[in-house]
Amino acid sequence: MSEEYDVIVVGSGGGALTAAWTAARSGLEVLVAEATPLYGGTTAYSGGGMWFAGNRLVREATGEGAESAADYFRAVVGDRTPRDLQDAFLEAGAEVVDMLLEDDAIELEAFWWPDYFGAVDGAAEIRQVRPLPLAASDLGELATALRPPLKVDRAGVPRDPRLSGGQALIGRLLLALSRHPNVTLCTDTPVTGLLAEAGAVSGVRVGEAREIGARRGVIVAAGGFERDAAMRAEHGVPGSVAGSMGTEGNRGLALRAAIELGADTDLMDQAWWSPGIEHPDGTTSFSLWFTGGIFVDTEGRRFVNESWPYDRIGRAIIDAQRAGSLGERFWMIYDDRDGARPPVRSTTLPLGETDDYRAAGLWHTADSLTDLAGMIGLPAAALEESVERFNRLAAEGSDPDFGRGDEPYDRAFSGGESPMVPIEKGPFHAVAFGLSDLGTKGGLRTDVVGRVLDTSGEVIGGLYAAGNSMAAVSGTTYPGGGNPIAAGMVFGYLAAKDCAGD
Ligand SMILES: Cc1cc2nc3c(=O)[nH]c(=O)nc-3n(C[C@H](O)[C@H](O)[C@H](O)COP(=O)(O)OP(=O)(O)OC[C@H]3O[C@@H](n4cnc5c(N)ncnc54)[C@H](O)[C@@H]3O)c2cc1C
Repeated sequence: MSEEYDVIVVGSGGGALTAAWTAARSGLEVLVAEATPLYGGTTAYSGGGMWFAGNRLVREATGEGAESAADYFRAVVGDRTPRDLQDAFLEAGAEVVDMLLEDDAIELEAFWWPDYFGAVDGAAEIRQVRPLPLAASDLGELATALRPPLKVDRAGVPRDPRLSGGQALIGRLLLALSRHPNVTLCTDTPVTGLLAEAGAVSGVRVGEAREIGARRGVIVAAGGFERDAAMRAEHGVPGSVAGSMGTEGNRGLALRAAIELGADTDLMDQAWWSPGIEHPDGTTSFSLWFTGGIFVDTEGRRFVNESWPYDRIGRAIIDAQRAGSLGERFWMIYDDRDGARPPVRSTTLPLGETDDYRAAGLWHTADSLTDLAGMIGLPAAALEESVERFNRLAAEGSDPDFGRGDEPYDRAFSGGESPMVPIEKGPFHAVAFGLSDLGTKGGLRTDVVGRVLDTSGEVIGGLYAAGNSMAAVSGTTYPGGGNPIAAGMVFGYLAAKDCAGD
């Protein structure tokens, strides 16, 4: 083949760039093939938090070893994913951080963000690391090829010349890669097929007909398929493209190519979910940091701890929708203590003008709860009863109904105080919500070093997966912030090491 590399990495999110960087450090010749005109994927949209068990920076900050993180992760995930896969993720995390810190392009710090199942043994409040910010100008020409934050990409907000969160993570990895002469970075390079010889993957097809050989392996780290409506429907993923925060390129193209070759999959109906505030254009966006409000179902009753981590709320939404007690659109009820705008501090995409939301029937205001219930089609007596009970529990400072405020994460946005804010100061407001997601998490089944397995459980030679292209090691749970990116980076790292024969 005229065009050939040791390793081809498909995609350019956190998993992909870590794989490319690891392979490059081992002296391999690497191609990073990114389908869209910009590098970074959903990772570039993210907060850039990474959950690595027992890593050096968290150890230094808290004195914690790897053991309690491992116990916690195993207890949360249970046996939905193979134990040896969980162990591989847990054991390699600290190593990945050590290696990253050897590169002076990469600077990280530990930070506070409570685990998402605070009642499970081993849950901690400081377990993640994040990249230190850097100036976009440090990236030179590569800065223009870095996918901007979501609010810039989708809502046209001006770009910040200082890169932080996921921007800094992708920026730093690109900077590190740009210093390796054995790495070729390519945008506009969609992998549409996998080439195979004697049952093993030997390269990729790009676009219609370009063929590129891979001497050691192809690592599919091409995100999930959240932006492909047909594939979502085929696998029964709750939610919709309009509610997904995943980047435009995540359409499952490389996943399909692997499936065609006989690869096995798992968890294909799963995503990283969240409640999403609804916008006049019909989209919903990942929302958290609620400073008040309760969610109610079609009966006007609360159905969830509104201060839970977003994926836990997302799963409660799906359960209620499946049980028929919640529509695709549902309502948050709140009072006027902070005005008419919704008590949601992080909506991922900026909220527009109040009048536009009112005209679209998404925000309502009334002097009484009875009138508000009429506007949004809920039984008035039940809504009043729900609010009355909630106010009573708020005054008592505990929530025996849904446990709101029982775990550290619940209190993360209320300065450690109870997040139960009474709904008593009229006028009263309702804001429409739906289901949102951060991307799908079902994908190719792998062994402990990211080698893709076929439907008989045998390794497909030369084919690896990481990130949301891989069936997630966390199964049907979101154990803590930073899990998606860290798992992608760990399996990208392990896959690249396997390619290098380490
Ligand atoms: C607002 C927001 C905040 C978040 N914050 C965090 C956080 O702090 N910590 C955390 O762990 N997670 C966070 N997440 C979730 C996390 O960002 C994603 O789950 C994760 O980044 C996915 O990484 P990935 O490497 O699998 O794929 P991605 O980063 O999505 O990258 C996939 C890339 O592959 C490309 N691609 C797809 N198909 C092909 C193909 N056929 N050929 C070539 N290229 C292809 C895509 O264009 C894309 O660029 C957040 C998500 C959002 C939306």
